[in-house]
Amino acid sequence: MSIPLQHLTVLGSTGSVGLSTLDVVARHPERYRVHALSAHSQLDKLVEQCLQHRPRYAVLADPARLPVLRERLQSAGLAEVETLAGLEALEYIASHPDIDTVMAAIVGSAGMRPTLAAARAGKRVLLANKETLVMAGRLFMDAVREGGATLLPIDSEHNAIYQCLPQPFSNGAAQGVQRILLTASGGPFRGFSPAQLAAVTPEQAVKHPNWSMGRKISVDSASLMNKGLEVIEARWLFDLPPDRISVVVHPQSVVHSMVEYIDGSVLAQLGNPDMRTPIAYGLAWPERIDAGVSTLDLFQIARLDFEQPDTDCFPCLDLAFEALRLGGAAPAVLNAANEEVVGAFLDGKAGFVDIAKVNAATMRQVAVDFDANSLESLTAADAAARRFAASWLARSGH
Ligand code: NAD
Ligand code: MG
Repeated sequence: MSIPLQHLTVLGSTGSVGLSTLDVVARHPERYRVHALSAHSQLDKLVEQCLQHRPRYAVLADPARLPVLRERLQSAGLAEVETLAGLEALEYIASHPDIDTVMAAIVGSAGMRPTLAAARAGKRVLLANKETLVMAGRLFMDAVREGGATLLPIDSEHNAIYQCLPQPFSNGAAQGVQRILLTASGGPFRGFSPAQLAAVTPEQAVKHPNWSMGRKISVDSASLMNKGLEVIEARWLFDLPPDRISVVVHPQSVVHSMVEYIDGSVLAQLGNPDMRTPIAYGLAWPERIDAGVSTLDLFQIARLDFEQPDTDCFPCLDLAFEALRLGGAAPAVLNAANEEVVGAFLDGKAGFVDIAKVNAATMRQVAVDFDANSLESLTAADAAARRFAASWLARSGH
């Protein structure tokens, strides 16, 4: 029996998840055809990907860079690749009638509208861009339902949970799910004292012990904000209240997460820390395909450790639970503040410990008065949070 070809758009194809996606896709040319690629700044990488995958569209976020892209594609002999730019172009390739599947791998809130467009158009949405769910969880899940989309989580923890849940999954409590246990590596600063944390640099923060990822999510992993964003992501993906979501520090990053059932069973998904596993799962679901990932060697791993998270040193995790309690636009505000302060930290304009301070101050100050059921209002909340965070940093002498 021949396998129907899946036509793909990869949003954020030049990033860490984008590269891993194209790696899996290239292993299965009989299954996948790349229809559109999108990038932000790395034009050379985008042109190289166009040479390999021959998409119909190459799309940039910033229209000002379009002439350079056109010229480079022409000189690479790729004049037939259509070039587009801007948010509407990203929405266009995410909802194009000729595609089946969208890999949503843009980093940050910039990914929200294109991901929403894919959901509304009823695509198979491979969701890496967790910020979409953090900002607009309810709106996004409604769009998935109303658009008839198939949503497959790519974040390794949520992918693991998805694999451990009863299928079809509809209602956790009715299906015997007691709790989900999100695992966290603890990041590069696990066990650090507050004094040590005050002195850490961006270079140290982006060196994750187990995973190779983009810079923003690496800093989020170091501050535990990433785990906080994942708690919010899990709340929406699996429709569970926050008191049924727990975080377990597991430094080896081999158990990618677990589901605890009322009968005492705990199901876990294990594997090497390589995003190609969840990506291949999302691409092929409900089938399984080779992801190019080496087999787990349990004898080499030898032991698995589990600890409580240190929320005194890493308060961002608790901030996420607080955002869920506050409800409304609080998660969107927290997310925007975090994007601002992490950007400042990476640029050497804020200290590592400022991340939690800015996030807390912004969420408590800005989160009221915004309606979480309107995209315009969420966008306004995002902008207000960024302004507040920037002024906090300016006031504190950064
Ligand atoms: P990355 O920084 O490596 O790549 C980001 C991609 O987004 C790049 O292709 C970049 O060109 C594009 N981009 C950046 N800013 C943009 C903008 N303003 N408009 C349009 N495109 C823009 O990031 P990543 O590590 O691949 O992460 C991507 C997403 O996946 C994030 O939301 C992250 O939280 C999530 N995620 C990543 C991993 C991982 O292992 N890297 C794991 C789980 C979840
Ligand atoms: Mg994750």
